[in-house]
Amino acid sequence: MRALLVEDDPLIGEAVRVGLARLGITVDWVRDGELGLQCASSEPFDAVVLDLGLPRQDGMQVLRELRKKGHLFPILIITARDALADRVAGLDAGADDYILKPFELDELAARLRSSIRSRCGRADPVLRSGTLALHPDTKVVTQNGAVVNLSAREFALLELLMRRPGVPLSRAQLEERLLGWGEEVTSNALEVNIHNLRRKLGLASILNIRGVGYFVPRDTPPWSR
Ligand code: CA
Repeated sequence: MRALLVEDDPLIGEAVRVGLARLGITVDWVRDGELGLQCASSEPFDAVVLDLGLPRQDGMQVLRELRKKGHLFPILIITARDALADRVAGLDAGADDYILKPFELDELAARLRSSIRSRCGRADPVLRSGTLALHPDTKVVTQNGAVVNLSAREFALLELLMRRPGVPLSRAQLEERLLGWGEEVTSNALEVNIHNLRRKLGLASILNIRGVGYFVPRDTPPWSR
């Protein structure tokens, strides 16, 4: 999962960035509303975490602008403004959730996942492809009920693919969603992770259409079990 954080407070921003990274969420961080609006409009994020009191453009304006442009990704407001009127205004303007500072990072991560789930119209948090089951909240992957150990990067890659079974994602799309800014894209990092996943889960766990992209099958064929 890749989230955009729009927050001008350096301490909170750094804590959220580091904390969510530990929970497997890649965070890109900008410190003013104008830049937040620009980035959220132009790059593929799974969710936006938005402060309200921001330099250059207020968070509420950013929120209204993003929804006016038709962006559907979940937007979570994080703020110290706890007046009922502020909360109602935020939710009415299209925020998915409203979290009061100070908050626990585990809670923010859980609410991010839950917002993404409800946007996808799916109540079951477990992702499935054939005999594979991936639990985004506990970071556990099982195959035929047995736990498979994956690295954080392998897990993130598999989660991306399992969110859209049967839909090929191109190399560029995968790299874009897996890596934050400032992270080097080594030329074969994606291939190495795909190779490792196939070694652990079976060759047919991740399929590939040359020149198009990688995907997990909607149903794992019997020969890979
Ligand atoms: Ca602020």
